[in-house]
Amino acid sequence: MSLDPQQTCETAACASGVLDIHLGAIVANWRKLRSLVASAACAAVIKADAYGTGLVETGGALAAAGCETFFVAVPSEGVALRAKCPSATIYILNGLAAGQGALHLAHRLRPVLGSSAEVAEWRSELRGDVDRGFAALHVDTGMNRLGLSLEDFASLMGASSRKGLGFPLALVMSHFVASEEARHPLNESQMRNFKEARALCPDIPASLANSSGIFLGREAHHDIARPGYALFGGNPTPSSENPMRNVVTLTVPIVQTRIIEQGESVGYNAQWRARQRCRIATLSAGYADGYPRGASVSEARLKAASPIAHAIIAERRCPFVGRISMDLITVDVSDVPESALKRGDPAVLIGAELTVDEVARRADTIGYEVLTRLGRRYERRYRR
Ligand SMILES: *Cc1c(COP(=O)(O)O)cnc(C)c1O
Repeated sequence: MSLDPQQTCETAACASGVLDIHLGAIVANWRKLRSLVASAACAAVIKADAYGTGLVETGGALAAAGCETFFVAVPSEGVALRAKCPSATIYILNGLAAGQGALHLAHRLRPVLGSSAEVAEWRSELRGDVDRGFAALHVDTGMNRLGLSLEDFASLMGASSRKGLGFPLALVMSHFVASEEARHPLNESQMRNFKEARALCPDIPASLANSSGIFLGREAHHDIARPGYALFGGNPTPSSENPMRNVVTLTVPIVQTRIIEQGESVGYNAQWRARQRCRIATLSAGYADGYPRGASVSEARLKAASPIAHAIIAERRCPFVGRISMDLITVDVSDVPESALKRGDPAVLIGAELTVDEVARRADTIGYEVLTRLGRRYERRYRR
C-alpha cells in the first residue's frame, strides 16, 4: 500500500455530495425579471454568499451578463464582490456599520443609510468632500426593522433643500413586508407611503421591489428592482406555478442499505418505527450540510399529517424516516428495485423535481433558509 500525503481530494466521493449550481439559469432568471420590469433597471441581491450559490461566481456571471448594480448585506461581502467586479455599483443593505466609513470609501461601497446616526457618521467621514461617498437612503414604509421613518426622511429632505445633504444621494429605497402574499393589505399601504417619500426627492432614482414585489405590477417597479430569491430558482409567486428556472441540484451518495423488520426503529431516539418489513438507505448528508433537521420524520410528524421530505433515487420518491443526523439521512427505499441501490449510487435531495420551496415546506421552513444554509462539505460544480 502506498502512503502518499500528496494524494488530493478532488472527486465527489471525497465530499458528502455534489452541489451543482447552474449559473446559466441564474442569468436566465435575471434576464426574465429584467424584462418583467421593462422600463426599470434590474439589480441583483446576492447577500449571504448569493443565497448559498457563491458570491464571486454568481456576481461574476451576472456582471458578465450586463447586471450593473448589486446589493449585499454587509461590508465584507461588498469587499469580496468588488475584487471580482471592479466597475459594479455595490450597495450595503445593512446600513453603515459603526466605524466602517473609510472601508466603504476605499472599496467604493455605497451604504444604504437607515438612521440619522448613520447619516451623521457618513457625512463626517466625507469631511465636506461631497463629490465622494455615494449612498442610498432607506425609508421605512412598514417593516419596522431598518430605515428612516417617513417623518425623519421628510425633515432630512426639507433641511437638505436648504443646505444640501452632505453626500451625493444615489438611491431612495424601501422594502416590502409581505410581497409574496399579493393581497396582503401592507403592499398597498407600503406603495402609498413610498410614493409619498419619493415625491420629496423626485429626481433621485427609487427602488422598492424584491423578487415577489416585481410581480405586484408596475406601481411597485419604480427605477430599479432588487430581486434575490427568484434569481436562484425560488418561487416569487407561491400561490401559483413557479415562473423561474431551477438553479441548484444537490446529489448525495447512498452509503449503505439494509432490511429492517416491522416494529424496528431507525435513527436517534427511535422516533420512527417500521410498519412493515422495509429497506432503508442511508445517505451521505445531514444537518451539518445544511439540510434542515426540521424535516426529521417522527411518529408525531406522521400523526399530524405534516408533509414528509423525500429523496429521489432511480427516479422514485423515497420518504425520509427517523431523525436527520449530523452527517446522515435515512430514507425508505422499499419501492426502488434492488438493482438500482448500489453503494455510491446518487440520491437527489434538491433539484428541478424537488425544489427548494418543496424541501422547505416539508421541513417547516422557507426556501430562503434552505438555500442560504447549503453546506460547505459538498463538491461545488458550476455550470455555465
Ligand atoms: C434580501 C433583500 C432583497 C431581496 O429579496 P428577495 O425576496 O430575496 O427577492 C431586497 N431588498 C432588501 C432590502 C433585502 O434585504
